[in-house]
Amino acid sequence: MRALVGDERAWEALVERPLSELLEELVPDDLTRGVVATDALIGTFAALDDPTLVQNRCFLYHVIGGGTGNWDLPVGGMGALSAGLVAAARRAGARLRTGAEVVGIDPGGGGDGGPVLVSTAGGERFVAQHLLAGVAPAVLAGLLGDPPPDPAPEGSQLKLNMVLTRLPRLLDASVTAADAFTGTFHVNESYSQLQAAHSQAASGQIPEVVPLEAYCHSLSDRSILGPELAGSGAQTLTVFALHMPARLFAGADHDRVKQRAVAAALASLDSVLAEPIEGCLMRDALGRPCLEAHTPLELQAELGLPGGNIFHQPLRWPFAEAPGEVGRWGVETARPNVFVCGAGARRGGGVSGIPGHNAAMAVLAARRPAL
Ligand SMILES: Cc1cc2nc3c(=O)[nH]c(=O)nc-3n(C[C@H](O)[C@H](O)[C@H](O)COP(=O)(O)OP(=O)(O)OC[C@H]3O[C@@H](n4cnc5c(N)ncnc54)[C@H](O)[C@@H]3O)c2cc1C
Repeated sequence: MRALVGDERAWEALVERPLSELLEELVPDDLTRGVVATDALIGTFAALDDPTLVQNRCFLYHVIGGGTGNWDLPVGGMGALSAGLVAAARRAGARLRTGAEVVGIDPGGGGDGGPVLVSTAGGERFVAQHLLAGVAPAVLAGLLGDPPPDPAPEGSQLKLNMVLTRLPRLLDASVTAADAFTGTFHVNESYSQLQAAHSQAASGQIPEVVPLEAYCHSLSDRSILGPELAGSGAQTLTVFALHMPARLFAGADHDRVKQRAVAAALASLDSVLAEPIEGCLMRDALGRPCLEAHTPLELQAELGLPGGNIFHQPLRWPFAEAPGEVGRWGVETARPNVFVCGAGARRGGGVSGIPGHNAAMAVLAARRPAL
């Protein structure tokens, strides 16, 4: 990869040295430096000079994009994407089952692939030659009866989803709300604010000024609102608050800490608005505001994201590191008949489709008769 990149300085700065060094050398302005740095911190609890370089990997994942660094939105939302996958799978003859929690996987003798036995909470059992697991590696380890990964994965974000009757007015009257919210709306994400928030969270405190970013997907694609709301002025607003590691919420007082964290995040957003966001929230039939919040621990409980880590595990370099990995698909496990097909694969993380493709290729390779 180093040779392919062909730029020693870029390789050193991005793959060998903490990202802070590059940012501090190239970007003098505190605000601009912070905005660039956020790509290194999404879902990742790290200082920008962290010696593990997990922040460098997070940065690379976010700027790789489809080769351009652009972040794409599926038209119609993620539901449209999964509906497309469902249709393709059905066309190919797949039988789909949802709501079937897997509670155990027996990989059998497994010498050269299968059979593997999968049991569900409903008491069903499935036998197959190969198993492709979309769950996080830590969840897979639990289902196989293997020891959990050490250290345990940890996510670091508070997520707020809102439906608004209209966009809020901004303190800065020189920008329209529609212009400001098209793309990523950065709030309190200067470099020094990010550093302060990290050290407060590392010492067990909810950051005093919460760095966050907001995305208004309905400005790009009104179809996600559905026909009823699409004709109104309604907008979706999703907020991703940084430096909210799972450990902050791990005590017995989860709900109280969550309440404080949500209030701090909303106060941070309000600090750049000319009116509180609260007043723009749509209300449901019972008069409740359309706002939902998820802590990392709630993501763990609801979606099986270990420690609420949105990437399933700490991000690894998007290329083979150990000699044994070279020439393989990056989806292999210690069991020859079990593959990962989700974010836990090599070059997993995020919505890329790469692990699913690679797991399918690995099964085809395993089924090919040896020459
Ligand atoms: C708040 C948030 C914001 C994000 N923003 C972005 C973004 O902007 N761009 C981007 O690319 N990525 C983003 N991500 C990350 C992205 O969503 C994930 O990387 C992606 O969904 C991983 O896909 P996956 O299919 O590997 O796993 P998942 O989508 O996590 O799917 C795993 C599935 O396995 C199920 N499961 C778990 N345990 C069991 C079990 N025992 N039995 C049966 N089923 C089980 C879960 O319910 C889940 O449906 C975000 C994630 C979060 C949480």
